[in-house]
Amino acid sequence: MNIDLHCHSTTSDGLLEPGALVARAAANSVDILALTDHDDTSGLASARAEAIARGVGFVDGVEISVSWQESTLHVVGLRIDPDNARLRTGLEWVRSTRIQRAERISEALERAGIPDSLAGALAYVGNPEIISRTHFARFLVDSGRARDVKGVFQRYLVKGKPGYVEQRWAALGDAVSWIRASGGVAVIAHPGRYNLDSAEMKGLIAEFKACGGEGIEVVTGSHTPTQYREFAGYARQFDLLASRGSDFHGDAGSRADLGLLPSLPQDLKPVWHDW
Ligand code: AMP
Ligand code: MN
Ligand code: MN
Ligand code: MN
Repeated sequence: MNIDLHCHSTTSDGLLEPGALVARAAANSVDILALTDHDDTSGLASARAEAIARGVGFVDGVEISVSWQESTLHVVGLRIDPDNARLRTGLEWVRSTRIQRAERISEALERAGIPDSLAGALAYVGNPEIISRTHFARFLVDSGRARDVKGVFQRYLVKGKPGYVEQRWAALGDAVSWIRASGGVAVIAHPGRYNLDSAEMKGLIAEFKACGGEGIEVVTGSHTPTQYREFAGYARQFDLLASRGSDFHGDAGSRADLGLLPSLPQDLKPVWHDW
């Protein structure tokens, strides 16, 4: 079974509409797909309709932005109920802070000599409630500030650079509880991206489990093969369910296309074991 439980559509910072994303998953022989847009579930209904039409299994998902200690983390929720009131209210709050942050990013870039970036970024947005650094990056690339999205992030949009602003996202326990309240399972997304040492990673996992979190991404487009092994080790040590997802965004910057990544190590318990 080819199962891909992490990707993005135009509902957040992906380039394909939800239906087109599902069509691509079908072309790539994905058997089960989860759509996990950042902080928003409004693409799920059309993605599901397309998945039914194409015979692809479909899972309702979301990727919630979280602040934990000094880090920004992402927590994926799988098999959520997008109509659940607690989840909806939580995500509405996260989205409102995104809009405020975008204004601060634009002011910071203005001070660095780049005017009108909020309007610029909004031209790339598919969903006005989800404006992300990716949209600023696409605007900055197309206006010649850097060669590619990766370069823009390094030059402008990461901590210490002129267009970076601090942001408090959801608390870890809140994100996990919204997911669980809606019937979903919470999964730590791409843990290899957070630059945590092993003591910090163990601290994160312990806290995540204490809040009711159950899973961790092991095979993701954001990990190297060495990191597949590293996080398989954490899954074993902490008895976490293992997940697999491309984190496809539809652009050249996505390291893995939908469904095109290795299988999970055989001995791990996959997050879909009882689905
Ligand atoms: P935001 O949630 O608005 O802070 O934006 C985060 C998104 O930006 C991530 O989901 C990625 O899609 C993208 N991103 C983050 N860091 C990088 C990077 N170094 N290069 C390219 N894209 C990145
Ligand atoms: Mn993204
Ligand atoms: Mn992420
Ligand atoms: Mn993602």
